[in-house]
Amino acid sequence: MQELTHYINGAHVKGTSGRFADVYNPATGEVQAKVPLANAEEMAHAVAIAEAAQPEWAAVNPQRRARVMMKFVDLLNRDMDKLAEALSREHGKTFPDAKGDVQRGLEVVEYCIGAPQLLKGEFTDSAGPGIDMYSMRQALGVTAGITPFNFPAMIPMWMFAPAIACGNAFILKPSERDPSVPLMLAELMEEAGLPKGILQVVNGDKEAVDAILDHPVIQSIGFVGSTPIAEYIYGRGCANGKRVQCFGGAKNHMIIMPDADMDQAADALIGAGYGAAGERCMAISVAVPVGEETADRLVEKLVPRIEALKVGPYTAGNDVDYGPVVTAAAKANILRLVESGVAQGAELVVDGRNFQLQGYEDGFFVGPHLFDRVTKDMDIYKQEIFGPVLSCVRAQTYEEALGLAMDHEYGNGTAIFTRDGDTARDFANRINIGMVGINVPIPVPLAYHTFGGWKKSAFGDLNQHGPDAFKFYTRTKTITSRWPSGIKEGAAFNFKAMD
Ligand code: NAD
Repeated sequence: MQELTHYINGAHVKGTSGRFADVYNPATGEVQAKVPLANAEEMAHAVAIAEAAQPEWAAVNPQRRARVMMKFVDLLNRDMDKLAEALSREHGKTFPDAKGDVQRGLEVVEYCIGAPQLLKGEFTDSAGPGIDMYSMRQALGVTAGITPFNFPAMIPMWMFAPAIACGNAFILKPSERDPSVPLMLAELMEEAGLPKGILQVVNGDKEAVDAILDHPVIQSIGFVGSTPIAEYIYGRGCANGKRVQCFGGAKNHMIIMPDADMDQAADALIGAGYGAAGERCMAISVAVPVGEETADRLVEKLVPRIEALKVGPYTAGNDVDYGPVVTAAAKANILRLVESGVAQGAELVVDGRNFQLQGYEDGFFVGPHLFDRVTKDMDIYKQEIFGPVLSCVRAQTYEEALGLAMDHEYGNGTAIFTRDGDTARDFANRINIGMVGINVPIPVPLAYHTFGGWKKSAFGDLNQHGPDAFKFYTRTKTITSRWPSGIKEGAAFNFKAMD
């Protein structure tokens, strides 16, 4: 069996803690590798290397740092298929979807090529007599990121690309469920010209995360994953004086108004609800048709589309709509929640509970489910299911639909399908959710905008990627300078305006 490694100081390094986690092929259910789980000493070793390497990297001019990013983009394109294949093998998502995962990360790297422009700072000439004032953005030092299983290429790149473009060293603690692609990305960054020790991958679980949270040298922590862990990391990281941004779970509502194009809305729900087996933080998991007639028309259009979904392994190529979920535990949790939905009185219109894929009986496949007449008190409504399960909550009015999305504790993404500009505008203005789609079901912002939810979907002030990332990974220093010829008076004792 393959034994995966850490990537420390430019080399693949075996784990020394003696602890490992199994890495599965979700399509077959087989353990295909084991990944080492680092302890605090291994983490401290990586931090010491990062700390030693970072000042020299921060002193490299931004244009040269940007060139490493340019070369990295070329290498990502060169190795796209290889990366996507490794990603599908460990995650289970289809091959085109895995390529999308790499591509969306690549776009953040492309944005970071703009580092020389983005880091230029500000300057005021003659702020006072002979006085100039300027601000610069300086790297933080050693930074770290903890990432989830569902986007093992994109989310690490959301973090390490801006961190490194800003002159930081970065330690990545990827998900222990699909760690191979992050290791490959670190190798490619070095092939692109990054000095050793600037990007390191330390695999692990809670023990490695706690070592990051408590290490005094680490200046900032980025986290993406479930909300309970996000809250834990935000609390402990902030208490330790670090700059922390944490992104958590989601329950994304899509409101369907009576005037919406119902075929378009149904197609959108199929892609957004069942794509990647529902394992996306921007998946739509709640459909809210407004009015009984809208609901009946929508369900009628959804059912045949759901029944036609093709579920299979990524090796089946373009013939598959979605693959298995990531682990047997994830599958068991989804089916447990489906049972709770039935027990609590929701109407299971499409029942995927007995789904079996011939030849892949041990794989973690979950058939598609559709619940109708779901209510606010049910667990399937309150909890994130993170599987191919769509819940339909019928609302009688637009205000009721809006209120549902507003009242839910999560606030990552949402969408409205309507032909009415007034309603769409009202929705975009009033909704308390970070990312909003108007006739767009998964409104994931592009790399040059920022990504982030509200409420229990995000903790911290700044979003992922885009201009916010350059703020998160730098601190501002403001310099006021006066040359001797500008000094017109002796000691000054008053705090006064510069005139
Ligand atoms: P997870 O919270 O289980 O794991 C995320 C990371 O935290 C992993 O690296 C894991 O090793 C670590 N971790 C797990 N348990 C820990 C503990 N007790 N202490 C410290 N660290 C721990 O999440 P996941 O299952 O990998 O990913 C799915 C979740 O991520 C979903 O809730 C999804 O909505 C969310 N997600 C959110 C976004 C976003 O941008 N808001 C994006 C992608 C995924």
